[in-house]
Amino acid sequence: RNFKELGLIPPLLARLTELEYKQPTPIQAQAIPSILAGRDLIGGANTGSGKTAAFALPMLQQLHGVKPSASKGRKGNYVSGLILVPTRELAKQVADSIKSYAVHFNGEIKTLAVFGGVSANTQMLALRGGTDILVATPGRLLDLISSNAIKLDRVATLVLDEADRMLSLGFTEELAALLALLPKKKQTLLFSATFPEQVQTLTKELLNNPVEIQL
Ligand code: AMP
Repeated sequence: RNFKELGLIPPLLARLTELEYKQPTPIQAQAIPSILAGRDLIGGANTGSGKTAAFALPMLQQLHGVKPSASKGRKGNYVSGLILVPTRELAKQVADSIKSYAVHFNGEIKTLAVFGGVSANTQMLALRGGTDILVATPGRLLDLISSNAIKLDRVATLVLDEADRMLSLGFTEELAALLALLPKKKQTLLFSATFPEQVQTLTKELLNNPVEIQL
């Protein structure tokens, strides 16, 4: 099936043509319709599989057109779509991809990346008024929450990207603290290259009747 048949809307389809994504990768073909349908999802996927677009395109589509509530929320530094990643490099890369996919939304969707190793001040300023999509490493996100720079109570979609790396890098406690701050009712998408016991436990606790995609 092509991207249009997966249910994506014209501003995204136009961008995919420009990027010369001729057809969906297997994970995209399987994940995009389920995510658009609101399902929770577990994706077994390595980098290079096209997993970023698999979650980013449907997230953008779901945020498109819900601007009134999003902008209302912005007054209180809220975020709608939260993507947790293990490293700063991945945070930047995922945020850049999302911004690129969203170019035909004409600035409708604000996407930011926050990560450690740089001053938190610039990130705090950028978060003023909230953001639609936030890509974050767990430690820095917790710091920013402590400073009231961002609130998680209106997260509608949560993505855990490279969940196995996040846990093996020692983010278990940070992750637990963050998950406790999220609303119960949300859509959760978990991507991981491997499924050790820690990841399986997390999956059981966090996901509600998920679609499972194993490539
Ligand atoms: P990822 O696995 O998300 O890190 O993506 C790997 C690379 O594949 C990135 O450079 C994407 O821009 C590219 N890519 C993702 N989906 C497609 C597609 N359907 N067709 C061509 N390239 C793609």
